[in-house]
Amino acid sequence: MLLSERFGMKIALIIPKNGVAGEDSFYDFKFYSKFLFSRKYIAARLGVPTVAALTPSEHEVRIFDENVQGLDFDWPADVAGISVLTMMAPRAYEICRHYRNRGTTTVLGGIHPSMCTQEALQHCDSVVVGEAEQVWPVLLEDLEMGRLQRVYQAQEQADLTQSPRVARAGLARGKYLSDMIQTTKGCPYHCEFCSVHASDGQRIRHKTIDQVIQEIEDIQGAGTTFKKKKAIFFADDNFIADKAYARELFEAIKPYKLNWMCQASINISEEEELLRLMRASGCGAVFIGFESISEANLRHMNKAVNRRYNYIDAIQKIQAHGILVHASFILGYDSDTQTSFDELTAFIRESRLLIPLINIMTPFPGTRLFDRLERAGRILHKDWARYDTRHAVFAPANMSPEELEAGYRRVFREAYSFEAIWKRLNHYWDIDFWQLSNTSDPVRFKYRILFALRLTTLLVSTNLRRSRFIIKLLPRVFDRRVRVSSILGLMAHNDFAYSQ
Ligand code: SF4
Repeated sequence: MLLSERFGMKIALIIPKNGVAGEDSFYDFKFYSKFLFSRKYIAARLGVPTVAALTPSEHEVRIFDENVQGLDFDWPADVAGISVLTMMAPRAYEICRHYRNRGTTTVLGGIHPSMCTQEALQHCDSVVVGEAEQVWPVLLEDLEMGRLQRVYQAQEQADLTQSPRVARAGLARGKYLSDMIQTTKGCPYHCEFCSVHASDGQRIRHKTIDQVIQEIEDIQGAGTTFKKKKAIFFADDNFIADKAYARELFEAIKPYKLNWMCQASINISEEEELLRLMRASGCGAVFIGFESISEANLRHMNKAVNRRYNYIDAIQKIQAHGILVHASFILGYDSDTQTSFDELTAFIRESRLLIPLINIMTPFPGTRLFDRLERAGRILHKDWARYDTRHAVFAPANMSPEELEAGYRRVFREAYSFEAIWKRLNHYWDIDFWQLSNTSDPVRFKYRILFALRLTTLLVSTNLRRSRFIIKLLPRVFDRRVRVSSILGLMAHNDFAYSQ
């Protein structure tokens, strides 16, 4: 029977679980789940709810995010569409096997199948290469007509002004700590390790301001039954890539009194007016790829934009606006040696970055870095689950992979020891860093009580350092200068640092 003879298809859209099976991963947000007595995850990735929105209404769609819920293989899906990042590929292929055994058509999409199409085709019936906007409805029609192709690839990049409203209603929204919105795609730079160039290109495309406002209203609950206000993460690769658009957007979102974060390039530190507008519209933190403190590494990376900046000055200029800098670093680039670990530890201490993000260099397929290392025979394996920025999957230039992993763990542990965390927190409390947030969006007394009570339950433990930290912390929880969420984030990093 042709599927078209039915009244629409049942379509399961799946986000596979993050992380390596049997190992702790920071990305599984286990600490948060345990602390909050709930399976909470940072946010739902947008690919799947976007595809849900592109699906013609005659079909029945169910979204499964394995990070917050189990997969219901008993639901009789006609099609399973799976969105795949590189580190999720083994799990995605396993899911395909389950579905294919029961006769369900499987489709893989996302960055990994787009970059490793032939590999993905060995595990599924069809692959969507690149953006789904133009090809997903065609694929479904072909499937109904019994003429499914092996590969669907759009001829041109999607016009984001025509993107449908992201179908957030299908998500288990209470299970996420924050919401995500993407307003633009593309980045004008071309860093060697980054796949944005291959996936989204250098030309900046953006949604209209009205589209973004509509998404904010969806998230905030206007017209829906969802009332809880959460932080919003703008997932654009570089939120200030188009400054005129960014300025207009910041003005437009001001009335919504959001608490938001974004990613941007370091040149934002020079943009006084933009920073003022960002803060006035609710920006609490910006993620910036510092990548390395070594000039030679930045040259290897083609990260020219960073080479013009003094990082400590940049942090101070941005943080002077009440916007926290979350700087991320890569360890293992070709100029790194054994001394680089201590140098980065010293930099983190000196700069007082509250939550530095530390990663092992990972050559993702589709990047120039991957091609260079593969040509040089330096890719050790393609066990994609370990392409998670926590494992050395390549041969470093000046040390062994084991030395790189050990150095990474050392930097992580020193940055997130309870002693280091305590010092940094005190610095931020002393300067009353969250003064503005605590005025405009105060932490409710009820949450402080609950947080303190939950902390006391952790006191009976063999983790004596944590118990000492909690004893020092408890009297401070009720201080109005203290943001509970930042403490939770730091404790999660400590938990991960010392469990690996
Ligand atoms: S600036 Fe960021 S998003 Fe742009 S290419 Fe470099 S790493 Fe990628």
